[in-house]
Amino acid sequence: MLFPADSVCVAKKRNRMGIIELRAQLQQGHVSALELTNQYLERIQEVDPKVHAFLEITAERARFDASRIDELRSKGVLLPPLAGIPIAIKDNICTKGIRTTCSSRMLEAFIPPYESTVTEKLWKAGAILLGKTNLDEFAMGSSTETSAFGATANPWNLTRVPGGSSGGSAAAVASEECVASLGSDTGGSIRQPAAFCGLVGLKPTYGRVSRWGLVAFASSLDQIGSFTHTVADAAELLHVIAGEDYKDATCLKVSVPNYQSILQKSISGLRIGLIKECFDPNGLDPQVASAVNKAASHLESLGCELVEISCPQFNYGIATYYIIAPSEASANLARYDGMKYGYRAEGVENLATITSQSRAQGFGSEVQRRILIGTYALSAGYVDAYYKKAQQVRTLIRRDFDAAFAKVDVLLTPTVPSTAFLAGAHTDDPLQMYLSDLLTIPANLAGLPAINIPCGFDDTGLPIGMQLIGNVLEESRILQVAHHYEVTTNIMSSKL
Ligand code: GLN
Repeated sequence: MLFPADSVCVAKKRNRMGIIELRAQLQQGHVSALELTNQYLERIQEVDPKVHAFLEITAERARFDASRIDELRSKGVLLPPLAGIPIAIKDNICTKGIRTTCSSRMLEAFIPPYESTVTEKLWKAGAILLGKTNLDEFAMGSSTETSAFGATANPWNLTRVPGGSSGGSAAAVASEECVASLGSDTGGSIRQPAAFCGLVGLKPTYGRVSRWGLVAFASSLDQIGSFTHTVADAAELLHVIAGEDYKDATCLKVSVPNYQSILQKSISGLRIGLIKECFDPNGLDPQVASAVNKAASHLESLGCELVEISCPQFNYGIATYYIIAPSEASANLARYDGMKYGYRAEGVENLATITSQSRAQGFGSEVQRRILIGTYALSAGYVDAYYKKAQQVRTLIRRDFDAAFAKVDVLLTPTVPSTAFLAGAHTDDPLQMYLSDLLTIPANLAGLPAINIPCGFDDTGLPIGMQLIGNVLEESRILQVAHHYEVTTNIMSSKL
């Protein structure tokens, strides 16, 4: 049952201000960076008690940085592209001197002694940090309900989940508590919450953006990306955070294009592949299917050619991911031993018990489940049957994409099979929860860039999202198609 809209909906449907509009306002002196920061901090005070997007609010630092930008502006100094833009960061991205918890008791008191590469780039570009946002513990989940510090609500309907694991970052932008935010995406954790919260959510190519300072979950899949109101804002942020980094050996040494200038280019003649396995009515909400089909027809009316594509191995995506991701997680999380840093159980004396008790008390049940699955899949006698087999299937999924991109320029699918589900609906049923990653996981397994763009609302007023997947390093292509779709449909403002 739905409650009256006003009591459950705090998503702002009017005057949604993005980076580009606000930058113009700041440059023209219509608002100062400090005034803007204060407006957002007030908005956080007003709505965050209901939404709980933030784990930590860095008000003092934000005001200090904003005042400095105003001071520099008043002296006529040429300012960097994000000067004075208030943003939020998922709490698994390290911020020097600011607690970074991964929403886990294990890291409840962890204050990183170093800055992640992405945040360092943002501060250099003049962005203002408003705070750190909630997530599923260690980014494992699809609803932000496995956070050790309480769940986040969906701003469109507070009885619903915002998606996950970057639910706090998505909810913060959707409820106008910040202009944009960063999240991380291992199996869909940016695109799925973006779909549930009516936002643009971009997961770049694996290696496009440095992972230095992102707390590792599954290192061959993790990638940092953004939540924004518009595609142009996503292009803007990607331009700032992308690029090579000697601190991350998997970060690609390729130049960063000017994404903004590519957005306007005509999309006429582009071939868009509809992956037929992703439109399988089994488990796909008919309202989602219809909105995405309508969006495909709209792209056709803009001059794109629609091509049906088959990617038969996609059906193995979830099974493959839920071997590979937990295996890597079990290795990555071995460092939390109660000795070097992180939570340490009290009242235990010998070494082995300190480690086992600290891990038993410091990790929540979903994290423990992943560690157990991963340790099993990697153990002698099982590694060939599980982990190695999963890696082979991963190659087959990658080949499906290669075959598809020989025929088309971008691929189009729904982002999630449903709209945002009710809080608590899947908390006792991990398999049901895992199914919400069905359509996002293949892009992670193949390392490809993918974006969620809002493409409608269901009959209860919840946003629906579609996903565009591009070939390796073809962020420009998906941004370009998404931008044309966005500006010619105005889906989000038609909800006024
Ligand atoms: N929901 C997926 C999982 O639980 C994806 C998480 C993510 O992308 N961080 O593993």
